[in-house]
Amino acid sequence: MANGTRVVIVGAGISGMAAALQLLERGFDVQILEAQQRAGGRVETLRAPFSDGLYAEAGATYIPGAHDLTHAYLRRFQIPLHLIPEEQLFTLWNIAGKRVRIGRDEQWAVELSSKEREAGLAGMVQAYIAPALARLGDVRSDSWPGSAARDLDQMSYRDFLAGAGASPGAIALIRRMFPDIHGEGIEDTSALFCLRDFTNEGGGWSLISGGSDALPNAMARELQAHIHYGARVERIEHGPDGAGIRFTQAGQSRWLECDRVVLALQFSCLKTTDVAPAFSTEKTNVISAMGYSAVSRVFLQTRTRYWGEDGPQYMGITDSPALGIRDCSFHLPGQRGLVECYIPGAAGRRIAAMDAVDRVQTACNYVETFLPGIREHLELGAAKCWTADPFARGGYAYYRPGELTRWENIARRREGVVHFAGDHASPWPSWMQGAIHAGHRVAQEIGERP
Ligand SMILES: Cc1cc2nc3c(=O)[nH]c(=O)nc-3n(C[C@H](O)[C@H](O)[C@H](O)COP(=O)(O)OP(=O)(O)OC[C@H]3O[C@@H](n4cnc5c(N)ncnc54)[C@H](O)[C@@H]3O)c2cc1C
Repeated sequence: MANGTRVVIVGAGISGMAAALQLLERGFDVQILEAQQRAGGRVETLRAPFSDGLYAEAGATYIPGAHDLTHAYLRRFQIPLHLIPEEQLFTLWNIAGKRVRIGRDEQWAVELSSKEREAGLAGMVQAYIAPALARLGDVRSDSWPGSAARDLDQMSYRDFLAGAGASPGAIALIRRMFPDIHGEGIEDTSALFCLRDFTNEGGGWSLISGGSDALPNAMARELQAHIHYGARVERIEHGPDGAGIRFTQAGQSRWLECDRVVLALQFSCLKTTDVAPAFSTEKTNVISAMGYSAVSRVFLQTRTRYWGEDGPQYMGITDSPALGIRDCSFHLPGQRGLVECYIPGAAGRRIAAMDAVDRVQTACNYVETFLPGIREHLELGAAKCWTADPFARGGYAYYRPGELTRWENIARRREGVVHFAGDHASPWPSWMQGAIHAGHRVAQEIGERP
């Protein structure tokens, strides 16, 4: 059905653009409506207000080796990567007031059983998590999750860990790598949802050299004739034979007709958009009830990298509200430093509610216990709070206990001529890999199904 079929895609994030590239290859007539003046959505590299060419990632940062779809686009656009040496990722921890370097001096200040102490963090993960991973099956399959995995959705990740025999001390460690970045933490998230995230691991981790925005920028260059910037969609009217989209651009109300629509914006944004007639009750409920994780990232520029070689390098982990404290300058030339605080959940929302000065001061409090002396060396700070971004309204989707098995297929399911992309409609919410997967699925749906 390709030639002459008009497809409008709402949102020029990675997902909408991946769908567009595939649809164009198949001969569809594609237009993308993007509310902002840039493409990339939650792939956003902040270059201002930093000095000396320093930059920080507000959104997507790390690319696991297992993310074949993301890597395929990086190869297609010849975007260079910076491979993170295993021993420099997630190695420095500060838990219960004690600094621990994994693999060197693993003496935790939390109470652990003698077996856990002997096993170390990697051994605990192996003992408590690996058996459940073996039950997961192929997470890409349309029929996933199978019966062996489904019951893992009925419990929180915390209850799963306790049921697997992890002591409270072990749980205090395992939760920080990284399930606590979702929702209100591991008490609030489905065990199945958190365990699926482990399928991302293996094959090392990389950063995009020069900033993650190289990927959406390359996609947008190829799609420049098809993207309409500053085009904020406000209403979608759809029927059996086509759809009309009402959007504002340059202060004017505009209308675009098409045969198919791809909604590649987060449900947190879609729920504020008029849809007529309303989608099915199931779909409407999932769109309005889908949970979105709050996350704020605060970046602190320092005159020197005063922490020396013993800093957090690519990612340090703490039990303070700043789950991750990272040296964003580690792989960059120059003497100035850039430290990041990754603050999820309730604390992330509190940061979003503060003014710019308080955000920086609060982040300094978190960093001080990890890298003492931050205030003395601080030059400036900047923050990105995803709940406060009107075109994201949250960091990424997550599932509470019981929701994944009931909602995920509904989130992906088309409604007549309207198709649903975005990382939330994929097996990997909160990853570019998921955004691309959903974009490709939608292109296939449109190409193959009447
Ligand atoms: C803090 C954070 C850290 C992350 N870390 C990683 C990581 O390390 N590795 C990784 O792979 N991924 C990471 N991600 C996830 C990754 O950024 C996303 O999975 C991916 O960017 C999602 O792409 P998308 O196209 O689905 O959605 P989005 O990027 O959200 O794109 C949606 C687009 O829709 C537009 N839009 C919204 N409303 C409207 C409207 N009304 N009209 C028109 N347009 C509209 C938006 O402006 C946006 O451009 C992270 C995300 C965050 C927030």
